[in-house]
Amino acid sequence: MGIIDRKEDCFICNKHAGVIETSGATIYEDDYVYVGHIDNNGKPNYLGHIMIDLKRHAPTLGDMTEDEAKTFGVVMARVSKALMESEGAEHVYSLVSGNSVPHLHMHVVARYPNTPEEYWGPMAVYDWEDAPMGVNSEVIKLCNRLKAYLENN
Ligand SMILES: [Zn+2]
Repeated sequence: MGIIDRKEDCFICNKHAGVIETSGATIYEDDYVYVGHIDNNGKPNYLGHIMIDLKRHAPTLGDMTEDEAKTFGVVMARVSKALMESEGAEHVYSLVSGNSVPHLHMHVVARYPNTPEEYWGPMAVYDWEDAPMGVNSEVIKLCNRLKAYLENN
């Protein structure tokens, strides 16, 4: 996929606008950020690979206003804690790439207990044969648990 400069063609803007349907359910949303689960084009997903998107179409961490950055940081911490407390993650990875979509989104990925050390890393966890993969109904349940945790804590 090439770089997309037009907002109307942006996958993330279209997702926020409800033009594209993706796996899972909304975990959290406010004026600055949107939190959901990664989408794997209908194929099973690694359970607990969360995406935190800036609402505004801006490409990098450095483009955030201070208000956006404050919210983004607090949500990053709260979602990470939710993965640990609600889903039993023993560690949480985060990653911002933006190579394919120039709209700021942070990958937040749970690592579960007993993951062998050779599979440690935000993308390496996928390669573990016992990685917790789930179909969309399981992704939706996970999203709803995280949403409830965030609402109650
Ligand atoms: Zn966008």
